[in-house]
Amino acid sequence: MNMEAFYFDGRSSKRHTVRLEATAGRLCLHDAPEGEQHFDYTEVKISEPQGRAPRVLGFPDGACCEVAQSAELDALLETLGYRESFVMRLQGNWPVSLFALICVILIMAAGYQWGLPWGAEIAAPHIPLKPMRQLSDAAMRQMDGEILHSSKLSRARQENLQGGFDRLVALDPELAAYAPHPRLYFRSAPDIGPNAFAMPGGQVVLFDELAEELTDDEALAVLAHELGHLNRRHSIRELIQSSATGAVLAAYFGDVSVAVTTLAALALNMNYSREMELEADAYGAVALSRQNKSPLLLANALEKLERSARYVGDDDEDEDTDEDNSAEEDEDESGSPGWLSSHPDTRERIRRLKELSVSN
Ligand SMILES: [Zn+2]
Repeated sequence: MNMEAFYFDGRSSKRHTVRLEATAGRLCLHDAPEGEQHFDYTEVKISEPQGRAPRVLGFPDGACCEVAQSAELDALLETLGYRESFVMRLQGNWPVSLFALICVILIMAAGYQWGLPWGAEIAAPHIPLKPMRQLSDAAMRQMDGEILHSSKLSRARQENLQGGFDRLVALDPELAAYAPHPRLYFRSAPDIGPNAFAMPGGQVVLFDELAEELTDDEALAVLAHELGHLNRRHSIRELIQSSATGAVLAAYFGDVSVAVTTLAALALNMNYSREMELEADAYGAVALSRQNKSPLLLANALEKLERSARYVGDDDEDEDTDEDNSAEEDEDESGSPGWLSSHPDTRERIRRLKELSVSN
């Protein structure tokens, strides 16, 4: 078995034409500048095929040969005793390659679906709150300039709700130690409708539109639920999980503007998981009972908001939470009367809250 190849001595870029001859297990180089050379097959490093690129045979002294791919080369390599690696043979087999590709896609999807929330849950308790507060403050300022307006709630109502909020925080040692301290903001947003949300930095925002639908105690129950999101660091987890990951990193490393905008959008469209909502409800029920108030207040708030025509218009398609629904989705969903009855989550939350109130 005999064929031509280009030889490089590994010291200069000069190319020599040589002749390769293979016998079982041995490779002979004829016409090499150093004269005839013999190599044992095991000494020769044979490159893997890469499209139509020439194959490279590497020798122990640093020299190598470049050989164009051809049936002749395949025959020479076979005579030498070369077998393509297992992986190479798999790569040449398209059903196997396709299967491998599908596996990779599934693994990535699983990582996104479960790996990211899992990572976020692990990381959330270790995220320092102070930069989160600064980021959230900046997002608040941005929203204040655009969609949030100052509250028109009476001073008496604001004072009453503020007092209740402060007691909720003071009675939870974890939240009382939450630094910076959770803070309540009253805002109005007629374009958005009834809403309340907790920012990762500990700011809880209550909209006039929500308070107006509820009694003070019921509004306080909603705040207790929001404090549950803070206590469990749900909003930090959401922030980590969301596409804002890059934005958060940018904020820590100096480029704040992207992070601020992303957080502002996220706050108004917090898409907590069902588990997070139930967890915040359970927290709210305990927090209310610490003030000798019934968990039923939260169930009442949910029912009232569900009944409210405005609430129907403001709900979103994958969350029926009173307070976490979005500004953007309300237009799509407005006036879908059959939708609420087909959507189990609010019903389930109310049922669970009623169970909690019985067991208390
Ligand atoms: Zn919630």
